[in-house]
Amino acid sequence: MTQTQPVETIPQPRHAPVAVPTAGQPYEYHRRPLVEPDWTRFPGWRHVTRDQWESAQWQRVNCVKNIKQLRAVFGDLIDESFYADLEADQLALATMSMLVPPQMINTMVPFATLTTEALLADPIRRYMIPVASDRRTDWPSHPYASRDSLHEHDMWVAEGLTHRYPTKVLAELLSTCPQYCGHCTRMDLVGNSTPAVDKLKLTLKPVDRYDAHIAYLKAHPGVRDVVVSGGDVANVPWRNLESYLMRLLELETVRDIRLATKALMGLPQHWLQPDVVEGLERVARTAARRGVNLAIHTHVNHAQSLTPLVAKAAQTALDVGVRDVRNQGVLMRGVNATTPELLDLCFALQGEAGILPYYFYMCDMIPNAEHWRVPVWHAQQLQHDIMGYLPGYATPRIVCDVPFVGKRWVHMLTDYDRERGISYWTKNYRTSIESADLEALNKRYAYYDPIDTLPANGQQWWHDHRND
Ligand code: SF4
Repeated sequence: MTQTQPVETIPQPRHAPVAVPTAGQPYEYHRRPLVEPDWTRFPGWRHVTRDQWESAQWQRVNCVKNIKQLRAVFGDLIDESFYADLEADQLALATMSMLVPPQMINTMVPFATLTTEALLADPIRRYMIPVASDRRTDWPSHPYASRDSLHEHDMWVAEGLTHRYPTKVLAELLSTCPQYCGHCTRMDLVGNSTPAVDKLKLTLKPVDRYDAHIAYLKAHPGVRDVVVSGGDVANVPWRNLESYLMRLLELETVRDIRLATKALMGLPQHWLQPDVVEGLERVARTAARRGVNLAIHTHVNHAQSLTPLVAKAAQTALDVGVRDVRNQGVLMRGVNATTPELLDLCFALQGEAGILPYYFYMCDMIPNAEHWRVPVWHAQQLQHDIMGYLPGYATPRIVCDVPFVGKRWVHMLTDYDRERGISYWTKNYRTSIESADLEALNKRYAYYDPIDTLPANGQQWWHDHRND
């Protein structure tokens, strides 16, 4: 089948926001200044002061880690049925344990009355606090879904160091974050085990892990770009992170360093602490002196998440010399998979927060994620529909991270079986586990659409081959 298809719609979750048509253009831009929602609207935070709110320590101590703590924040505003739904998810389906900073909870239902219905419909809640009724019961997971769906662990060349692309590595310094996202692609390693997922563990002492990374980079001068990640680097004690970054900066061969931190949005208070800001300035100054591009990559999925504190954290990083702050969001049904939601987010990032809209990833093929995933054709349609509104350099690419391939722009597929929802992709480099595979560059690699989005014949085919 060809990839050019008439415009269709994908089944949306019960609580998906409805796009409101606007006059004139398909999308109408309105500037919306950022606003910090009033946290005292939550019964549990009625007496929390601004000083407390802006303290990273207060935010960390008051992260919500379980249902009891969530109840204490929401008081009696939310029905018991919600907590039962959440508990059902946590007991059987969740791939990530619960960890939500107050900053993120405060961006749920930010400017309306908090009700159970509004909370269920909220895009931030939908991916940070998933409940059982969000998930699909027909196909909760795709038959080809897997833990470590990108095979990052298979490509470790040292503990936590993934060498997938020829000139770039991903350095996972630790396996924790200040917040846990329900759709985390590293659900294999990141966070605490859940009843559904027994997590892998990093076993080396951090100092030995870091030494092993540096040794590998010294031995492989062709690697010029290091994504320093985790987990989230905001959970690495600053002194350790600075030492790691300074060691990277001593390597003449390293020309790009990107710090991965969703906490810039989820816990901006962390990135505003004086010791962190001063340390970041030392690193940025050293990077500039050595001509290395130092950037921060964050992960914002919805315009609601952007508040003045997030913009302040991004601006502070730029002020102390970080060259760029960029966003890598994840495309998810019920969260942001419509044109207005994507453009609202991109304009808020670009125009209000000083963060470059860079990528949207399709949600990876991990277990129990089918209700979030969108088919490739839908991502192509979104890419089409967001073109032409933002400055070209700030128009994000929507990419599919194809297993064993890497990021591909969604229009780069070579073939597409729309009935069975299988797209085929090629690549132009070998990963570190294929150095001896002469055929690696001649193969086609498959990616799979969510089955509930397929035509009836396709759904029937998967049903008939469920156990193949
Ligand atoms: S911040 Fe990133 S690594 Fe951490 S749970 Fe979320 S998606 Fe996973």
